[in-house]
Amino acid sequence: MPIKFNIFVFTSAHRLITPIEKKLKRTMAEVTCSFCGRNKKDVDLMISGIHAHICDKCVTQASQILLEEKKNKVEAGALPNFKLIKPREIKKFLDEYVIGQDEAKKVISVAVYNHYKRLMQRKADSDVTIEKSNIIMVGETGTGKTYLARTLAKILQVPFCIADATVLTEAGYVGEDVESILTRLLQAADYNVEAAERGIVYIDEIDKIARKSDNPSITRDVSGEGVQQALLKLLEGTAVNVPPQGGRKHPDQKMITVNTENILFICGGAFEGMARFISRRLNTRPLGFAATAESMNPNDIDHNNLLQFISAQDLKSFGLIPELIGRLPVLSFLNPLDHAAMRKILVEPKNALVKQYKKLFEMENIEVEFKDGAIDFIVEKAIDFKLGARGLRSICEAIINDAMFEMPSDKTTDKLVINRAYAEEKFSKSHYSKLKVA
Ligand code: ADP
Repeated sequence: MPIKFNIFVFTSAHRLITPIEKKLKRTMAEVTCSFCGRNKKDVDLMISGIHAHICDKCVTQASQILLEEKKNKVEAGALPNFKLIKPREIKKFLDEYVIGQDEAKKVISVAVYNHYKRLMQRKADSDVTIEKSNIIMVGETGTGKTYLARTLAKILQVPFCIADATVLTEAGYVGEDVESILTRLLQAADYNVEAAERGIVYIDEIDKIARKSDNPSITRDVSGEGVQQALLKLLEGTAVNVPPQGGRKHPDQKMITVNTENILFICGGAFEGMARFISRRLNTRPLGFAATAESMNPNDIDHNNLLQFISAQDLKSFGLIPELIGRLPVLSFLNPLDHAAMRKILVEPKNALVKQYKKLFEMENIEVEFKDGAIDFIVEKAIDFKLGARGLRSICEAIINDAMFEMPSDKTTDKLVINRAYAEEKFSKSHYSKLKVA
């Protein structure tokens, strides 16, 4: 007699429910928020602890209470929680990475320290209000302005971002609104508005938004003076509506309000052609108002480094509007890099290029040695190309690229010596040798 099978097909709807599952289901239905008493089925999410549950609505409310409490504390004079880094400590740290530029490093260290002190000033005892000292740094391309700012970011205990002035245009024109700078800061602060409001912003290429000409023309200067005007309120300190994801503002977008009153702005630019304005001022002004350069013997003025004599007046001649200059009261300069400085940059800083290449080869068990002659050759070429220290990297790449291509596969040798002859030969074969020197 054939055996008969009964086949049951269970769908999830018809599945037999075990007694344990039944009990679990009952308990689940009974779960209520230990704070507001809402049932699990009435909320989006219930988080369970060992002896209690909390619903998403209570979590949101509790978080708002916390934020409010924190804000009240700050307003009542409680100090933000960070360690005060003294100017000397800041500079010492910068020294590990950035070669030379002592003047600029000092100015920045003091400005950042004062920024911290300003943040720590209790509202209650604010009979003297410390104003923020936004900074403007002037220096040839590749002298380390951005690098200084980037290095600074490593020790700062406040959010920090770098923005590029060249992409900004006046609101309503193709480009980015100035508020996009704050979007970046918000992102750096993980959208913690309170933290962003005490952050530091570095605006690169500020010289590129100089007024295009002295004559007010019929066409609007939307990427020059227009942007400067738009930046004014940001630098001064105001509540700005910021689109959290960047891009253009549009009416339906949710905005985050950021107050820029406590944000420190550092601006940097190469100001190419500035020497012309400085020398004109130095040569033509008969009596200087106690300014060092004016009262100097003309023969003592170093014409290769006129930027060190820069004044607010020169910034105005270059095309920055007086209102913007007024909001950037600390003016500093970076020295052009000479052969000795470039040499140091190649070998000395904590993450010097030579050290980086050595590390890369070390990972292949290859020892690489840069002879003095090769270092000098690289520096000479970088100076020829007038790219400042920025040129060092591409010249090194041109020289070392062949070895980096071949040696990982070619296991016959574990040592690479780069001397002047090697550097010259590799460089002459690269496309750089065909480039015209600036
Ligand atoms: P810019 O002044 O045009 O902003 P950067 O700061 O971008 O120049 O410099 C380009 C690169 O050159 C940096 O990334 C850094 O590696 C190197 N560099 C420039 N100046 C210095 C310096 N003083 N010390 C160490 N490295 C420097």
